[in-house]
Amino acid sequence: MTHDKADKPDHPQKVEKSEKKTEKSDDLQISDKAEKSENPLPEQPLRPAPRTKIHLADYAPDYTGGLNKKKTIEDTENMHDRLGILQEMLYAQKKQSVLVVLQAMDAGGKDGVLRKVFTNLNPAGIHISSFKAPSEEELAHDFLWRIHKQVPPKGYIGVFNRSHYEDVLVVRVNNIVPPDVWRKRYAHINAFEQLLADSGTRILKFFLHISKEEQKERFMDRLQDPNEQWKFSAGDIPVREKWVDYMQAYEDMISQCNTEAAPWHIVPANHKWYRNYVITRTLIETLESMNLSYPPAEKGLEDIKIPD
Ligand code: ATP
Ligand code: MG
Repeated sequence: MTHDKADKPDHPQKVEKSEKKTEKSDDLQISDKAEKSENPLPEQPLRPAPRTKIHLADYAPDYTGGLNKKKTIEDTENMHDRLGILQEMLYAQKKQSVLVVLQAMDAGGKDGVLRKVFTNLNPAGIHISSFKAPSEEELAHDFLWRIHKQVPPKGYIGVFNRSHYEDVLVVRVNNIVPPDVWRKRYAHINAFEQLLADSGTRILKFFLHISKEEQKERFMDRLQDPNEQWKFSAGDIPVREKWVDYMQAYEDMISQCNTEAAPWHIVPANHKWYRNYVITRTLIETLESMNLSYPPAEKGLEDIKIPD
C-alpha cells in the first residue's frame, strides 16, 4: 500500500524507513509504483444506489481507479479555480446552499480534506462546524438540535467535520443510548435531510474509507513526529480496538441513510491524492448542476459616472 505525504510537510528523518516515504507534495516526486497500477481494479462505485444494503468489504480503501498520481494531483489543482468561481456564484446568488458532511475513523483525513479541497475558496462563504462529544446543554435537547443551528444559510458552503451521524456511530458502539433509541435516528436523519434539501440545501456526504492498516501507519507517523504528536490522543486506541463494530455501524448508517436527497459517497481514502480528487470533482459536478450564475446587474449601471 502506498502511503501518501501529499498534504503534510515532508519528514526527512523518515524517508529512509521505507520506500513508502519517498513521496513529497511540493516537488511531486512520485514513486514508480504509484504512477499507474499494473492491474487496475474493476471500477468501484463512489456513490452506491440509494437505499440499498451496502457491504464495506466490497469497497477497497486503496482504490485509485488506475489513475496516474502526478497527473491527478495536477488535475485537482486545476479544478480549484473553477470551484472558486462556482462558490462565488453560489454566494452572489444567495438562493441555495451546499452542505458537505465528512465522516471517518480517526486519521481518516477529515482535516486533510478541509485543508486541501477548500483551499482556494473564499473563507467568507464557508462555514465549518466540528462536532465533538455533546455538552450538557446539547444533551438536554434532541440530537439534531445542535446540528440544525449549524446548517449553512443560502449562499454558503457548510462543512460538517463529524456530524449528526456520530449519534448512530460512537453512540451505538459505546451503548450511550439503547438500540431502540439510536435505531429510530436513521428515519429522523432522513426526514431532517429531506427538509434541508426541500429548503434549497444540496447535501453531499463523504465517508472517508481507510483501512485499519493505513490507520496504524498514520498513527505511527503521528507518534514519531514531534510536530504531529498533538494530533494523537490515547483515546484513539480504544476506538481503534472496536474497528469491526465501527465498520458495522458505518455500513448500516450508509445503507439506511443513502437517499436521493442526501447521497453518501464511499471515498477510497488510503491515498490522499485520490481522496482529494474525488471530493473536489464531486463538489464541482454538484455545483455545476445547481444552475448557478451571477445575479443580473442593477438597472442603469451603464449611465453611472464615478465622481472624482
Ligand atoms: P477528530 O477526532 O474529529 O479529528 P479531535 O480529536 O480534535 O477531532 P475530539 O475531542 O476527539 O476531537 O472530538 C471528537 C470526538 O467526539 C470523537 O471521538 C467523536 O466520536 C465524539 N463525538 C462527536 N459527536 C458525538 C456524539 N454525538 N456523542 C458522543 N460522542 C461524540
Ligand atoms: Mg479525535
